[in-house]
Amino acid sequence: MQTCFDNIAQDVIYQKIRTEYPVQLTIKRLDLIHPQISGNKFYKLKYNLMEAQRLGYKTVLSFGGAYSNHIAATAYAAQYFGFQSIGIIRGEELAHRPLNATLSTAQQHAMQLHFVSRENYKKKQDIEFLTQLQRQFPNSYIIPEGGSNDLAIQGTREILSPTDQLNYDIICCAVGTGGTITGLIEACHNKQYILGFSALKGNFLTDIVQGYTSKTNWSIRDDYCFGGYAKTSAELLSFIEQFEQEQKIPLDPIYTGKMLYGIFDLLKQGYFAANKRILVIHSGGLQGRRH
Ligand SMILES: *Cc1c(COP(=O)(O)O)cnc(C)c1O
Repeated sequence: MQTCFDNIAQDVIYQKIRTEYPVQLTIKRLDLIHPQISGNKFYKLKYNLMEAQRLGYKTVLSFGGAYSNHIAATAYAAQYFGFQSIGIIRGEELAHRPLNATLSTAQQHAMQLHFVSRENYKKKQDIEFLTQLQRQFPNSYIIPEGGSNDLAIQGTREILSPTDQLNYDIICCAVGTGGTITGLIEACHNKQYILGFSALKGNFLTDIVQGYTSKTNWSIRDDYCFGGYAKTSAELLSFIEQFEQEQKIPLDPIYTGKMLYGIFDLLKQGYFAANKRILVIHSGGLQGRRH
């Protein structure tokens, strides 16, 4: 299984980002690691699916919103590795509407979609709710929302290669549930600094990640979240379009677009010292745009 999972990965490409500033900016294109299990979700699913297989589960169950990259990636990966899959989707009202690109991708890969009210969805970590799901869907391996758990972090540690630990001073990533940045923090060299750009408003992610690590060479900022999760602005969308034209690198408006907007704004402000070698993790997230 292990070789199996790693065998489907493409070689990861590093690409220079051209800027007018005196820093070295390189992007690590995890978005190209696999056409369907894209970006950080590849690393987050890897050890979870290996564990589900080792324990003999037949079904994988997880949670997400209507635009969840994790749900789309899980549906594909589950099918590919021979599991059934169930997606618990936030928003009862969606059951009566045509499926969007993300959810129809999930359904095409045989994921059974179950729509729950926002109120019930909030209970997704409660023991009672999980017990009830176990009863309703027996023999299911449950992966939390966004795919973040200890096995996900074991996977996201692998995002940073030994040469990445030597070749860069600062590593930037987008943050949703914190599983990716935690792996980077755990894997990085103590001389490196990990800078997270939150896709959500508020400081709660700092608290969550602090619960996972005792290291201090990192921070998460939420000042480039554009008002909150999945919120956008004309300025953000035009930045993404311009970036794609100039650098030939596609970005998504929920995670990587906000991060790169933030990085360029910080460059403009002279936040990064001269000659710093910055590695930007392109965590994927383009699946919703493909249709
Ligand atoms: C899911 C996702 C993230 C967030 O990752 P976490 O581990 O949940 O913090 C970042 N970028 C993209 C493109 C994603 O799809």
